[in-house]
Amino acid sequence: METISTTCLIVGGGPAGMMCGYLLARAGVDVTVLEKHKDFLRDFRGDTVHPSTLQILHELGLLDDFLKLPFTKVSHAGIDIGDAHFQVGDFGRLNTVCKFIAMMPQWDFLDFLSGRAKKFPNFRLMMETEAKDLIAQGDRIAGVLATGPAGNIQIKAGLTIAADGRGSILRDKSGLPLRDLGAPFDVLWLRLPVLPGDPAGLIGKVKGGQLLVMIYRSDYWQCAYIIAKGGFDAIKAEGLSKFRNRLKEVAGFAARRVDEAIRDFDQVKLLTVTVNRLESWARPGLQCIGDAAHAMSPIGGVGINLAIQDAVAAANILGPVLRRGVPRLSDLKKVQKRREFPTKVIQAFQVAAQNRLLAPTIKATDTPKPPWIVRLFNDHPRLQGLPARLVGLGIRPEHVKIARQ
Ligand SMILES: Cc1cc2nc3c(=O)[nH]c(=O)nc-3n(C[C@H](O)[C@H](O)[C@H](O)COP(=O)(O)OP(=O)(O)OC[C@H]3O[C@@H](n4cnc5c(N)ncnc54)[C@H](O)[C@@H]3O)c2cc1C
Repeated sequence: METISTTCLIVGGGPAGMMCGYLLARAGVDVTVLEKHKDFLRDFRGDTVHPSTLQILHELGLLDDFLKLPFTKVSHAGIDIGDAHFQVGDFGRLNTVCKFIAMMPQWDFLDFLSGRAKKFPNFRLMMETEAKDLIAQGDRIAGVLATGPAGNIQIKAGLTIAADGRGSILRDKSGLPLRDLGAPFDVLWLRLPVLPGDPAGLIGKVKGGQLLVMIYRSDYWQCAYIIAKGGFDAIKAEGLSKFRNRLKEVAGFAARRVDEAIRDFDQVKLLTVTVNRLESWARPGLQCIGDAAHAMSPIGGVGINLAIQDAVAAANILGPVLRRGVPRLSDLKKVQKRREFPTKVIQAFQVAAQNRLLAPTIKATDTPKPPWIVRLFNDHPRLQGLPARLVGLGIRPEHVKIARQ
């Protein structure tokens, strides 16, 4: 079997893996990223590039080039309850270079980052290469066994970073204990057409027990329709026309586009929602980050933000150690120490929102009264910076501290 060696092996070319790979390569560390797909044109995973990520790109001197790619600006977040509209978030109030979320296909973002990373001679990206197992040397993880276009390959590394997403095989093989926080709902993803005059933005819609989130994407609306956990089979059994009627009930100005747009259940993708986190993010030789360490609920659309923030923290903490040698477990534990608090706080908000607001709403048949917090933000625009901060920046935003070499 072919064997290669690298200082730092990152498994997973998603937002966490690619950002971490870029930062470590920029800092002069020999780094290899494995991605199992042959390109970044993966399933829809959310297209949000948050103000905090844009700030990181600014700190790296990449922002001007990045903003030359096509994207849509989302500056406000609102919610329609019945026929009343409430504005709850204003990203214009953030103290960041970009006061908006940039909506951009995730593959464009990943192509951009990987293109920049490839300019460093010490960066290697191995596409179509899937990690299958960990290599253990005593108690220490020393790399992975993978399958690539040329067959099986052994990749040895001083440090392996698991950034392989919420279904992480490395996390499963590592035996690190995972805590499931539960989620009472799943999400159906679908698209509706955009027409001239539509309000560009992020809109939640609640009506008669239906809940729909619409994300403006200039030529279509990316929609998340919330259903009770495990409820998709029952919806399919009821038939397409009943499903379309449910959508029409809640889609407001887009209701008349539903019949034309949804012709088959194949156009509706199920996201099984999981919310979990590792109790310990590392063992000797192995560090988990991003969804591999903590799968986030889609509430607030913050998973990418957290994944990128983990990557920056991991590079800041581990980069200088990797330049000198192999990180010890005590070095790895600093990453969890830095990132666990922001993760726990955001997950606590998500679990409270899903259990107190979302679950009762999808069980009900009537349109709920606007919760006091929604009315508070709507009536006091100055407070709209708070939810914008929580979603756009998260808790304790990271900054690039590791120097370029
Ligand atoms: C339908 C959907 C919609 C979402 N919408 C949003 C949103 O609007 N905003 C938001 O912030 N978040 C959203 N999320 C969450 C967001 O996608 C994740 O939180 C984020 O992508 C996590 O980044 P990551 O790099 O940790 O993992 P991932 O993005 O999952 O990346 C993991 C990468 O590892 C690769 N990989 C997996 N296993 C292996 C292996 N064994 N070997 C090699 N490579 C491997 C995968 O192909 C993938 O490229 C959404 C998620 C889903 C599923």
